[in-house]
Amino acid sequence: MTAVSSIDVRTGTPVAEVAAESTAADVDAVCVRAERAFPALEALGRAGRAAMLRAMADELEARRATLTEVADRESALGETRLNGELTRTCFQLRLFAEVIEDGGYLEATIDHAGDTAMGPRPDVRRMLVPLGPVGVFGASNFPFAFSVPGGDTASALATGCPVVVKAHPAHPGTSQLAYEALDAGARASGAPEGTVGIVHGQEGGSLLVRHPAIKAVGFTGSLRGGRALFDLASARPDPIPFYGELGSLNPLVVTPAAAAERAEEIAKGLIGSFTLGVGQFCTKPGLAFVPAGEAAERLRAAMTAGVAELGAGWMLSAGIHDAFEAGAARLRETAGVSAVASTPDGNGSQGPTASSPVVFAARAGELSGAVLEECFGPVTVLAEYADEEELFAALAGLSGALTATVHIGDGETGLPERLAAALRDRAGRLIWNGFPTGVAVAWAMNHGGPWPATTNALHTSVGGTAVRRFVRPVAWQDAPQSVLPEELRDGPVSVPRRVDGTLEPSA
Ligand code: NAP
Repeated sequence: MTAVSSIDVRTGTPVAEVAAESTAADVDAVCVRAERAFPALEALGRAGRAAMLRAMADELEARRATLTEVADRESALGETRLNGELTRTCFQLRLFAEVIEDGGYLEATIDHAGDTAMGPRPDVRRMLVPLGPVGVFGASNFPFAFSVPGGDTASALATGCPVVVKAHPAHPGTSQLAYEALDAGARASGAPEGTVGIVHGQEGGSLLVRHPAIKAVGFTGSLRGGRALFDLASARPDPIPFYGELGSLNPLVVTPAAAAERAEEIAKGLIGSFTLGVGQFCTKPGLAFVPAGEAAERLRAAMTAGVAELGAGWMLSAGIHDAFEAGAARLRETAGVSAVASTPDGNGSQGPTASSPVVFAARAGELSGAVLEECFGPVTVLAEYADEEELFAALAGLSGALTATVHIGDGETGLPERLAAALRDRAGRLIWNGFPTGVAVAWAMNHGGPWPATTNALHTSVGGTAVRRFVRPVAWQDAPQSVLPEELRDGPVSVPRRVDGTLEPSA
């Protein structure tokens, strides 16, 4: 039996044994329990599951002090940030309760039998149904919001899919406590045993993705880890959908007009954004295009002065710290790249996992190698462009991103429209005169993007429509009323429906 330890990341000291790494028998047992829970969880209905999600949020809030204390010890993210993240996580669970109560996500559609220009048509009724048990892998940088009780878990449970979470090795204690809160919420609301389960250890995670009871996987984490597990999911005898939310360069463009108007203000915002959470955000702006010339010099000078006042911060784990330092070293060694701003040695946090912010500069027309890859941590690259031709050629060479940000001048037109068109095809969220870190939990949010931002750009992992990943369409043809789901039966129902081509509001 291999023990899983909770580590104080600030000192590197193991503090407690949290669990044992899951064996093949453990993974099988938890997946079979999830499979058995599936029919009863679906039968709980939308109202029952909405109550369950709210009960889970209540259980998390009741354990707030312990959860944030353990998460802070394991992640060094600080209690203020973690309290905010837990609040967001509970808000998210409650939002998904509203999503399923609304019922629009079911896409309920009825075409009555009748004569059409194509001849007689049968009665056809369609809606979305849950896939079955879902495996969920969270990321190290959001121990709540993108981990055990996060958006993947909430959206899968909302649709009626039991969830088996893979505990993150950087915060196993937090993972276990959050799982216990979700389990208590499930029990308190009459959900079946096995509605939520947990496995620990890398081998346990691989077995989870391959288990026949698992019908989809939600993953948040690194490109390398996501790719490895995506390949496992695809290589199954019965390949399953794998929704990998991965890393991203998140380009940011400053137009000449914006730079002339407010170079210093943009520099200040950019520093705040690329160093937020010690740069450990999937939405961190890693590459900022700035116009060459006097305005760029002002922006660069403001970055240099601002970064010099910052200090080192503790990173999430020894592994992430080492990967960041190796990535920063690769940037330093890349031809045409030079460091233009850094924090003096000795400022800020000290210890084996502490890292300092750094800013590099390069020519937009000469970007290559490490500059074009995510470096997870407090680093960004300023790419100077001489003219629009150089800017658009560089943008065309970028791979997919979660976000793209544009800073434009007051009332500017022309260039913003060209940028919008160029960036739309490369990113899932376009931000104007703002910064990409921070993803609002809202009905309209999209958090995703073309590869390598995600393994599947068709869906979002944040916001009301995240449920779409864990449902599939079924059509019933000439079916008796008794076999139809309640939402497709004749008479008034509490979901919006498209009936014979016309959208009808919920009764
Ligand atoms: P990670 O190292 O990929 O870990 C994520 C999870 O996957 C862990 O449970 C890890 O556990 C497991 N895993 C990784 N490789 C595996 C393999 N080969 N086989 C089985 N399991 C494997 O990612 P992370 O360091 O926690 O997170 C940082 C990354 O997440 C950054 O790149 C960041 O940009 C990204 N991120 C993305 C989003 C988003 O929404 N797009 C949000 C937050 C973070 P084991 O170590 O036990 O294998």
